[in-house]
Amino acid sequence: MKSWVESANSATTQFPLNNLPYGVFLDADGAGSPCVAIGDMIVDLAVLEDEGVLDAGGGEAVFDVPFLNEFMDLGSDAWASVRARLIDLLEEGGDDALSGSDDLREACMIAQAEVEMAMPFVVGEYTDFYAGRHHATNVGTMFRGKENALPPNWLHIPIGYNGRASTVVVSGTDFPRPNGQLKGPNDAVPSFGPCKRLDIELEMGAVVGTGNQMGQPVSVAEADAMIFGYVILNDWSARDIQAWEYQPLGPFQAKVFASTISPWVVTKAALEPFRTSTPEREFELLPYLQEPGPMLYNIDLEVALAPEGKDETVISRTNYNEMYYSSAQQLAHHASGGCEMTTGDLLGSGTISGPEKDQRGALLEITWSGAEPITLDSGETRTFLEDGDTVTLRGGAKGDGYTIGFGDCAGTILPAVKFPA
Ligand code: CA
Repeated sequence: MKSWVESANSATTQFPLNNLPYGVFLDADGAGSPCVAIGDMIVDLAVLEDEGVLDAGGGEAVFDVPFLNEFMDLGSDAWASVRARLIDLLEEGGDDALSGSDDLREACMIAQAEVEMAMPFVVGEYTDFYAGRHHATNVGTMFRGKENALPPNWLHIPIGYNGRASTVVVSGTDFPRPNGQLKGPNDAVPSFGPCKRLDIELEMGAVVGTGNQMGQPVSVAEADAMIFGYVILNDWSARDIQAWEYQPLGPFQAKVFASTISPWVVTKAALEPFRTSTPEREFELLPYLQEPGPMLYNIDLEVALAPEGKDETVISRTNYNEMYYSSAQQLAHHASGGCEMTTGDLLGSGTISGPEKDQRGALLEITWSGAEPITLDSGETRTFLEDGDTVTLRGGAKGDGYTIGFGDCAGTILPAVKFPA
């Protein structure tokens, strides 16, 4: 598909016409407005809606708010019709309401380089899963030994825990190293202070578009239809805080200080050509978890680490297709007991690691709990993150001559807050 926006036809853009991911940008006054990315530009959807060129909600405005939730809540028919309308407006030879109007183009199209992005949606609740088999096996081996690496439930249940929506932040939001309770294996009692083993987790996040009613489970197919799109997610983790606190109820303070998402939500429609199946099952899943078709996606992922003031080094490359459970299965599992899932809920896939050392999605695995430091291109070594480090996650679904991208998912570690002062 060719667009009259020339930069969208470049082989290197993350945002060709068949991507059209949704985000929220901040205008010159700092007010947020929903937009789509096309090439190196964005299109302000509030302006298109206000001018009567785009109608998502049958005459009701949904883009006049600084989040996508009202649009997401309309459901899959509206998502499809808005996508079709935007493609018509941006395709070469399509409707010329935008391409043919200098005034409208000037009012709604801005270079991406000139705008700051905000959180694309209000996060309802955030649940994080643990669905990567290589990751679960590596971490389980380190924490419990090789024989007990995978917990007995792991091959039957998409394991997860309820996280915090309040500290899900958009790419570019820096945050301090967390403080917490720490107790090394040789310490008699715990101490309180800055985390010394600060880590990343490379994940995909599924964004729930439409919910279910409390008490009403959904099938995997219904769950898939409820998902609006996907973001790249860094589930930052404090390993030393986690190791002391995690039994028996799972991570708590180790994961709540920040979770970073990419600025762009890539729609399920854009990812459709990249659907792929979950791996063969060691145990047949219970019927409510069985998938009617391919529910994972073939998305190349990478992790880059840059010390303060230095160039980045790519420290891992993997693919979303490594997961054992899909987001649709996780969502169906979540609702299966009667939990109400709502518009804007975010489901973390779990850390995505491939089978090889340079395909691992967390420093804990890459450096084998700190025993095998990595050397960066700058010559520095790392076991875990240091103050000033910037980690950038990237992802792209690679088609024939085009890439569906998510934009950078980046964050920088600031020094810990002095507490108690
Ligand atoms: Ca995680």
